[in-house]
Amino acid sequence: IEPPLGSTVIPVVNKLREVLAKVGERDSELELPQVAVVGSQSSGKSSVLEALVGRDFLPRGSDICTRRPLLLQLVRTDEDAGEYGEFWHLPGRKFFDFSQIRAEIKAETEREVGGNKRVSNKQICLKIYSHRVLDMTLVDLPGMTKVPVGDQPMDIEAQIREMILSYIKQPRCIILAITPANSDLANSDALQIAGIADPDGNRTIGVITKLDIMDRGTDACNLLLGKTIPLRLGYIGVVNRCQEDIELNRGIHHALASEEAFFHSHPVYNRVADCCGIPKLAKKLNQIFVQHIFKMLPDLKSSIRAKLVVAAKEHSSYGHLPQEPDQGSLVLNILQKYSKAFVSLVDGRNEEKL
Ligand code: GDP
Ligand code: MG
Repeated sequence: IEPPLGSTVIPVVNKLREVLAKVGERDSELELPQVAVVGSQSSGKSSVLEALVGRDFLPRGSDICTRRPLLLQLVRTDEDAGEYGEFWHLPGRKFFDFSQIRAEIKAETEREVGGNKRVSNKQICLKIYSHRVLDMTLVDLPGMTKVPVGDQPMDIEAQIREMILSYIKQPRCIILAITPANSDLANSDALQIAGIADPDGNRTIGVITKLDIMDRGTDACNLLLGKTIPLRLGYIGVVNRCQEDIELNRGIHHALASEEAFFHSHPVYNRVADCCGIPKLAKKLNQIFVQHIFKMLPDLKSSIRAKLVVAAKEHSSYGHLPQEPDQGSLVLNILQKYSKAFVSLVDGRNEEKL
């Protein structure tokens, strides 16, 4: 995965968020993008998320595996801090073994909705700490289905659609609309629901999975180039692990390597290499992420200025400086420092390569 483009901006944003929290500001303006996957059941949503994170930890399979929304917060750490996961419902317990994370997702799903295919909109929250990720939040969602199975209620289709819409309607949500290449794009549940939440297509990326199992003699070139259904932010084609790979426990590195080999050796996809592969998807996401933050900067700048004025007033109302630096002057100091960092970020934005 390419080096994260946002790595210079995001730590500052995170610090600012801490500071604003200290002065009791709700951080609605500081909302960072979330990335959500939508699509029909077994289209490859969990596989794509897992490949983006670069670790094996999500339940995947040919059946309905994702039955509760999974909010996945990626937290970038120093290399020597190790890589581990932590669930909100199990505070303090660090999961260094990622296969145990998968087991806990399954167990926690069943605690809420039982073992028989029911779904719930009650989300599972998981933080992944790693030096190999970019700070961002990913959301894995149940797939869209039409016919109730197991003990699913009759209105399962509507329930799942509502659940998905509640996530992807948020303006900060980047939508990965997942469609398998072996189905018809014009019938894509993913593009249909993404079109409702994001009619202008400003935050929808089309992802075509399963390029490896298309009918012989066909390819997805026209889909990837947007000739079939145009999409503002375009499409990326990917190859994830098949069910056999999962059963044989083939790891994520195997998956990324064989994806690369697939595209490299393919006479057609060679020509559209920019639209192919998980690394290209990661790169596109990073670019959108950085652009999103730059768009927020002017607002943040004025909001910080306003905070500064208030803090300064409060400070002067204390009269003379106390002996010990009190909470107020500490906050003021921090704010001033980060405000400066921010102003220079905003003003220097044109020099930043996007
Ligand atoms: P989800 O239900 O949308 O989350 O889909 P999953 O990620 O659980 O994948 C469903 C099934 O499709 C699994 O058996 C995967 O191994 C398989 N699968 C996903 N992506 C691909 C792909 O690109 N190629 C192949 N051959 N199989 C895939
Ligand atoms: Mg899934």
